[in-house]
Amino acid sequence: IHKSFDETIVLTDVNFRVEEGEFVVLVGPSGCGKSTILRTIAGLETPTSGDVFIGNRRVNDVPARDRDIAMVFQSYALYPHLTVYDNMAFGLKMRKTPKPDIDERVREAADFFGLSELLHRKPRQLSGGQRQRVALGRAVVRKPSVFLFDEPLSNLDAKLRAHTRTELSRLHKRLGTAMVYVTHDQVEAMTLGQRIVVLKDGFIQQIDTPLNVYKRPLNRFVGGFIGSPAMNFVNAAITGKEIAHGQIKFTAPSFVKLNSKSTLTVGLRPEQIAIGETSGDRAKFNLVVDVVEPVGNEMLVYGRMDEEILVIRAEATAYIKPDDTIPVSFDPKTAHYFDTDSGESIRDWSMSA
Ligand code: ADP
Ligand code: MG
Repeated sequence: IHKSFDETIVLTDVNFRVEEGEFVVLVGPSGCGKSTILRTIAGLETPTSGDVFIGNRRVNDVPARDRDIAMVFQSYALYPHLTVYDNMAFGLKMRKTPKPDIDERVREAADFFGLSELLHRKPRQLSGGQRQRVALGRAVVRKPSVFLFDEPLSNLDAKLRAHTRTELSRLHKRLGTAMVYVTHDQVEAMTLGQRIVVLKDGFIQQIDTPLNVYKRPLNRFVGGFIGSPAMNFVNAAITGKEIAHGQIKFTAPSFVKLNSKSTLTVGLRPEQIAIGETSGDRAKFNLVVDVVEPVGNEMLVYGRMDEEILVIRAEATAYIKPDDTIPVSFDPKTAHYFDTDSGESIRDWSMSA
């Protein structure tokens, strides 16, 4: 699909397929077009060009209410004057579902989401997490052929978010219904998605499993967006087979597609830079420590190599403090390599490291 609002192009050639029963996450920064894609699937937006299929049915001209989908938003959009029970039952009543059937489905969903004791309450008598679970329950009772989620956990605190995330995974496993989930949070994308679609400025950047997107980012944007703390990038000069920047100097691994260009960008995840480890073909340099963040099981060390600011993961027990100069190294065979201008990966993945 393509989508423009007046002159503004919002989606360009967005094309992907969700398999039967699959959990696909659309992830990207705010404004990249995630909600527009979801709303287009739902029938709340019309594509400027292109087709939307649900199953074998082209649904471009099918109104939203006839698409057999259920959508959950970040804002819970509950009816304030209705009880939890009636909020969940509302859509079924509108569709003239028999009362005993409604009752069974609502109680089953309430049980799943831990809402059984709260069925008589009004939304204002619930916590944010409970309200969101009512919104999820309301979608589940519909038994749709597709679930669409638009950042449904963004209003919850970190702990509740993690908890509800596992509930959603459990729900997906139990129902086996296709789910398309939108988030700007790469952790949510990594943990929930069987496959993830990474978006930027209305263009799909990469579609793959979370692990492949992490391990084999197709471009610098994906490398930097997926993973926390973010991948470090160093622009380096190429002379023959030699890659160099400041203190760093090493021979390009054979799988790096060197073209005639004189620069490339090296991408290093924080865990790919180790303290010490001077063995073998590792590239070595000194890091001047700026900030040390202990996070319990590990430590994040922010420091400078020449003018570059880098972050590395270190053992929680490493004795490092600001202003220390520490020797660090990385294995060029594990690093990522990008064309500095286009950002495209120039690593040949068909050649093993
Ligand atoms: P996301 O959900 O990834 O944050 P959206 O799909 O909401 O992004 O929006 C993508 C872009 O489309 C944004 O630049 C937004 O301002 C624009 N946009 C969304 N809806 C409309 C609209 N109804 N009219 C004009 N521009 C819109
Ligand atoms: Mg959005």
